[in-house]
Amino acid sequence: MLKKPSVSFEFFPPQTDEGVSKLNETISNLSQFNPEFYSVTFGAGGSTKEKTYDTVLKIKDHGYQAVPHISCISSSKEEIRGLLKKYQDNGINRLVALRGDHPSGVVDIVDFSYANELVSFIREETGDFFNIEVAAYPEFHPEASTAQDDINNFKRKLDAGANGAITQFFFNVDAYFKFIEECQRKNIDLPITPGIMPIYNYKQLSRFASNCGAEIPRWLRMKLESFGEDLDSLRDFGVEVISELCETLIQYGVPSIHFYTLNKSKTVSRIIKNLSLV
Ligand SMILES: Cc1cc2nc3c(=O)[nH]c(=O)nc-3n(C[C@H](O)[C@H](O)[C@H](O)COP(=O)(O)OP(=O)(O)OC[C@H]3O[C@@H](n4cnc5c(N)ncnc54)[C@H](O)[C@@H]3O)c2cc1C
Repeated sequence: MLKKPSVSFEFFPPQTDEGVSKLNETISNLSQFNPEFYSVTFGAGGSTKEKTYDTVLKIKDHGYQAVPHISCISSSKEEIRGLLKKYQDNGINRLVALRGDHPSGVVDIVDFSYANELVSFIREETGDFFNIEVAAYPEFHPEASTAQDDINNFKRKLDAGANGAITQFFFNVDAYFKFIEECQRKNIDLPITPGIMPIYNYKQLSRFASNCGAEIPRWLRMKLESFGEDLDSLRDFGVEVISELCETLIQYGVPSIHFYTLNKSKTVSRIIKNLSLV
């Protein structure tokens, strides 16, 4: 019998008091699903870095497993060392380690060029203290020169000491299955958790997808376009499509499912209630 996968939820650090109370409500609504953890994204810009830290500690204070993302593209070794120490001192022992993207689009390399260097650095500095997740791309990272290079680069992060990976969102389930097969051929047997993006809004989804290289298949794109401003119908349809995607992944035997919540709980809750998880 298949083991039921766990779920985890990703948030961005809220920037306003209103955002903070909305996130508190979201966290409390999603707690009914007993998530393995709540993760908090990391922005490369100055004050955003602090907000990730503050949000993580608040989630932990509420008694939940809180997992910060750390990106290295515009951070020095000294900064990362300081941040790791702060997390260790506060009993945070799980991280998502990334290269990151600078909001301006300008690559501002300080001490690290790629995420595998960050993973190695974390291991050198803190040994086995942290459980480290890295990013995986079933449809390949937009900057990858070839599919093969991208998988080899993914393997570098695992060889550097990561414990598992969370994927970029995708709608083509075959891309995930093929990615897993390819990893198995390379003797990668660490858990690769599918990252799932609920459908809230077509324009926003389109923008995210084109930035991160996720394909919205033609049938789905045309169907979503046809809802126009009718967001309720679009979301109902989105819940159906994403529930089917998740159920296919559950039947395949995925270890866990990570939801990109965008700090909202309603759509994600509807999806999870449709699954053979609860
Ligand atoms: C689950 C998840 C969470 C995320 N959270 C955040 C977040 O909180 N904040 C944020 O800013 N972004 C986040 N991102 C986005 C991520 O930062 C971007 O996709 C970024 O462009 C790449 O980050 P990475 O860690 O995958 O980079 P890398 O693994 O370093 O890969 C980046 C590119 O470089 C290539 N590459 C990797 N290593 C090498 C090497 N040694 N030599 C040559 N080429 C190499 C890869 O093939 C790839 O094309 C997240 C993505 C995912 C999937």
